[in-house]
Amino acid sequence: MKIASVIVDVPAKQTDRSFDYLIPAKWENIIQPGIRVIVPFGPRKIQGFVKEIKSQSDFEKLKEISEPMDLYPALNPELMNLGEWLADHTLSFKISAYQAMLPAALKAKYVKKIRLVPGKGIEVLPEDIQQLFHETSELDWDQSVQQGFISALQKEASKGHVEVIYQVKERVKKKSLLFVYPAVKAEKLKDEIGSLPARASKQKEVLEHFLQNSKPVELRKLISAHQFSASSIRGLVSRGLLAEKEMEVYRDPYENRTFERTNPFVLTEEQQNAILPILEANQAEKHEVFLLYGVTGSGKTEIYLQSIQDVMEKGKEAIMLVPEIALTPLMVNRFKGRFGDQVAVLHSGLSAGEKYDEWRKIQRKEVKVVVGARSAVFAPFENLGLIIIDEEHETSYKQEEMPRYHARDVAIERARNYQCPVILGSATPSLESFARAQKGVYHLLNLPNRMNQQSLPSVEIIDMREELRQGNRSMFSKVLLEKLRDRVEKGQQTVLFLNKRGHSSFVMCRDCGYVLNCPHCDISLTYHRATQRMKCHYCGFEDHVPLNCPDCLSEHIRFFGTGTQKVEDELGKIMPEAKVIRMDVDTTSRKGSHERLLRDFQDGKAEILLGTQMIAKGLDFPNVTLVGVLTADTMLHLPDFRSSEKTFQLLTQVSGRAGRHTLPGEVVIQTYSPEHYSVELAGQQDFDLFYKQEMMVRKLHKYPPFYYIALVTVSHENLMAAVSTTEKITNYIRNHVSEDAVVLGPVASPIPRINDRYRYQCLIKYKREPELGTTLKYVLDRFQTESNGGLQVSVDVNPYILM
Ligand code: ADP
Ligand code: ZN
Ligand code: ZN
Repeated sequence: MKIASVIVDVPAKQTDRSFDYLIPAKWENIIQPGIRVIVPFGPRKIQGFVKEIKSQSDFEKLKEISEPMDLYPALNPELMNLGEWLADHTLSFKISAYQAMLPAALKAKYVKKIRLVPGKGIEVLPEDIQQLFHETSELDWDQSVQQGFISALQKEASKGHVEVIYQVKERVKKKSLLFVYPAVKAEKLKDEIGSLPARASKQKEVLEHFLQNSKPVELRKLISAHQFSASSIRGLVSRGLLAEKEMEVYRDPYENRTFERTNPFVLTEEQQNAILPILEANQAEKHEVFLLYGVTGSGKTEIYLQSIQDVMEKGKEAIMLVPEIALTPLMVNRFKGRFGDQVAVLHSGLSAGEKYDEWRKIQRKEVKVVVGARSAVFAPFENLGLIIIDEEHETSYKQEEMPRYHARDVAIERARNYQCPVILGSATPSLESFARAQKGVYHLLNLPNRMNQQSLPSVEIIDMREELRQGNRSMFSKVLLEKLRDRVEKGQQTVLFLNKRGHSSFVMCRDCGYVLNCPHCDISLTYHRATQRMKCHYCGFEDHVPLNCPDCLSEHIRFFGTGTQKVEDELGKIMPEAKVIRMDVDTTSRKGSHERLLRDFQDGKAEILLGTQMIAKGLDFPNVTLVGVLTADTMLHLPDFRSSEKTFQLLTQVSGRAGRHTLPGEVVIQTYSPEHYSVELAGQQDFDLFYKQEMMVRKLHKYPPFYYIALVTVSHENLMAAVSTTEKITNYIRNHVSEDAVVLGPVASPIPRINDRYRYQCLIKYKREPELGTTLKYVLDRFQTESNGGLQVSVDVNPYILM
């Protein structure tokens, strides 16, 4: 008798452990660790993950597993273990950790089918299974169970012939095309070829094709590749020699694109010095974390490519993480160009179905490399040789919901399991990583120079307060405007960057200074020009803009803050001759528009590219010689100890967009805080000095990398309940940490109310508290389950958002 211990899909404290179930004999050879199953749980049937198979249980009277959901484990053993680790380190439920590792399509409601693996011919199957596929290309799961075919199908699945697919109701529609395949045995085809009249040469050719290869071929491809006519194929179908059927195909978002294959560059001496230790680690199968610190354009990507190539030549796989925002077609092209269809791509621009297809290519080992955003760190490879995190300082690598993991930590943990290297790359490393590299925990690799010895662009910092004093009320300083005009005249291009983060277009009364806030959240409403309405970005509240100030009744109420559209309008007034491409959430929401706008800019259809964060990274246009930053300091005043670091990083990134090729580049940074060291040092592109300065600040205030931090946030509809619970929690934690730890609280969160819930916090700064995990887990368990009306407690270990 076999027993499975199962983690059930009920994210709650009481169910955060495994439950034992009997495995019915008919499922015995299917059910294994990593398979998802349906189990009875109380009155319901729910999903779960099989954690382990055993022959004994401490419990009597076990219930039986109802049925498996997979024929092949959704998570391999390594990922199952990683799930445990993830739950431990982020204080989340095991089930949340497992679910986070799967593509969205596997989490939604679905219908389950079994089908031939695309590209496999029906002849690979045993006779009786072939029968099943004669009428239909997809078998119904439930029916196959009833008819007793599941075990046989499972055998085929393990050979890679058939697979289970999940057709998510509505959300994922399968893509199917008409395929043609031989309907008769090879001898019959041979006979037919012999007896066809000479004038039927086309039909002969078709049959000969199938004689050599009996795999189904997509009708369209058959016609175009062999120049067969549709009618000669139809004729063969109507004579019963060939058959047609609709078959599902992979949705390949890059299908109709050809990628020009590229060859590795001969590395420069600097690059060679940098890559050598990586290749050595590959060779020695040694786990080591490298910090590749190199300015933009110093050839980091080429090092990634060649390191991956080395790993592939050793028969291993590689994960390449890129921030979502930098996962541009340009970036993808560099990888597809080098490694062709060995590359799978995972990013949020793909539909759930496309993502799922890419994920299965990885699972089936049809690809060796995955390029993707944060969650691609869970790519189900089983022979990992390398994990790379480009722009490692990016905060988008931290997931802000359960499980609150940082991709960097996951990468290092996985690489440790596989004894393989990790490369963290950045022009502006995070303070944490750079400090570790300084201490020798990470292996520092330097690329101090740009390719071809191009100099970094020259940067000018403009004090906008001074401009105002001189009577310039425009959003463009005189210098920037002059340079803009000059580029337009010369036919060169400009990138204008507007930092929107932490700086939305709010509505303010010019007479009394009243700012319109959301009635449910303590945060200003954002003005949306397209709809002429104000919206709360936290709770979704919407309202029209009032005609009079609600406070002083003045009519001088108007929107403030600068949106990209407003900049575009102003550009239209002062330089009507210049064509502008605007890139922001509004202009890029349609699929493919992001790419199209960039291509237009590359093709020179506009002189100016105007945009938000999304243009800060990865762009590489030879004709761009000017970069303008309209307001450098909007992020500087956020209540976040990383605000200086983020400002420095962003300004450095943006500046790196200029002069990447033969034409020299210039950068103009407009700011209201020119004396702030993060602005000043970004202007000098001096990371090393910035690092020293910022480290002093961090040390003084006991922040990372000198201290670790953990944040407990409590929210409740009732202010007193929120405060008093936070106080209890704070006291409890204070009593359970050492004297070296600093426990701050209870304090109101920087956004003290969201959606009518009051928010209070407790911040813990610590160096070494081996018991803190247990303490925080206790706090979560105790207060999360307290049934006093909707108290919410969350814990973020190493938070990136302190609001
Ligand atoms: P980074 O990733 O550090 O920004 P890239 O790898 O994109 O830098 O390199 C900058 C430019 O230099 C790219 O256009 C790239 O194709 C080119 N390049 C990189 N390495 C070499 C090399 N060894 N020889 C010639 N060109 C190179
Ligand atoms: Zn709100
Ligand atoms: Zn007013």
